[in-house]
Amino acid sequence: SRTQTPLELFGADALVGEEERDLQAAVRAFVDDRIRPEIGRWWEDGQLPARDLAKELGSLGVLGMHLEGYGCAGTSATAYGLACLELEAGDSGLRSLVSVQGSLAMFAIHRFGSDEQKEEWLPRMAAGEAIGCFGLTEADHGSNPAGMRTRAKRDGDDWVLDGSKMWITNGPIADVAVVWAQTDEKIRGFVVPTDTPGFTANEVHHKASLRASVTGELVLESVRLPSSAVLPEVAGLRGPLSCLDEARFGIVFGALGAARDSLDTALAYAADRIVFDRPLSSFQLTQAKLADMTLELGKGLLLALHLGRLKDEGELRAEQVSLGKLNSVREAIAIARECRTILGGNGISLEYSPIRHAANLESVLTYEGTSEVHQLSIGRALTGHSAFA
Ligand code: FAD
Repeated sequence: SRTQTPLELFGADALVGEEERDLQAAVRAFVDDRIRPEIGRWWEDGQLPARDLAKELGSLGVLGMHLEGYGCAGTSATAYGLACLELEAGDSGLRSLVSVQGSLAMFAIHRFGSDEQKEEWLPRMAAGEAIGCFGLTEADHGSNPAGMRTRAKRDGDDWVLDGSKMWITNGPIADVAVVWAQTDEKIRGFVVPTDTPGFTANEVHHKASLRASVTGELVLESVRLPSSAVLPEVAGLRGPLSCLDEARFGIVFGALGAARDSLDTALAYAADRIVFDRPLSSFQLTQAKLADMTLELGKGLLLALHLGRLKDEGELRAEQVSLGKLNSVREAIAIARECRTILGGNGISLEYSPIRHAANLESVLTYEGTSEVHQLSIGRALTGHSAFA
């Protein structure tokens, strides 16, 4: 009988419009042609040709694709999610490059920036000619950004920023950093060109996860900025948190891409691998694994599509994004690890994707709100009690 892919089995294609499907197919083709042949080597070398890729991703139209105007495509949120899924089927590092650019740096400027900031940065960022990063986390303040030590002080009309940020994706290659800092009143966001005197970025090395992604520490020593550098439209933690909600939404779909690619790899491997004189895929234990993983992948996608439709209707709430992020990443990492077992010894080789996806997803489990933080957010919505502090 004809075999079906895991997602064909779910019939989920019928839930996606033609335009969204075409866009998804274009991103998938880009990943197959441009990323798949190289990614194992990039990951092993701990490098990503991010500047070149950013321009190619800009031409593909995925940078800030769900934003309106300024050279952005203005697609549905669901289409953006499906693009993230295809990018992360390539590698979580690739999806991170796109998420940070579009959903964190560009979104912050698009939603909270002045007209001048938007015109200066968004068209170049949409084209991938300028790369952005988003500096919220500090070495001592990750899950609790309210405790941040980075400060912005007024000096005449200027602002002067001092402090540091840690674990900043794209930091060392960025042309512009959106940096969040404590002021005498509330937390404010600043648009910082990275060639401003006093700004430096150091690359974080020795990562065992997300190796095909540039991560850095930002150091701000008396960085003097004009008054026009502040994001005028927001004050308080609501600013960075609403940007994180955007990026988390992409991860709800994205992580499932890593899971799908792992499962496709395991299915193909199990069909060809002969053990005890039969294909590995014909054994009951293997089929039980494949069936359970297919179920979780399909359930995850159904939830993601549902959340996508809510977002397209302007109805998506933060605790619902938490449901999706928690589920997708937790199930994706379990699937990637289980797929690795199906590949036996070959499962630990970077020739095959599951171990790379599993290692990458360790970062995805932690960034954009750890799994525990999302459990607490869901718990608060259910009980009315905040158990964060
Ligand atoms: P901590 O906050 O110290 O957490 C440690 C553990 O304690 C976790 O398990 C956590 O869930 C748990 N915990 C914390 N608070 C509670 C609580 N109240 N109750 C129970 N458990 C709790 N940040 C940016 O700003 N920009 C970026 O571009 C960016 N990119 C990143 C890229 C990578 C590869 C990584 C690894 C991180 C990145 N981050 C970025 C930072 C990321 O968002 C933080 O690492 C994350 O928020 C967790 O913070 P932390 O590392 O300080 O861990």
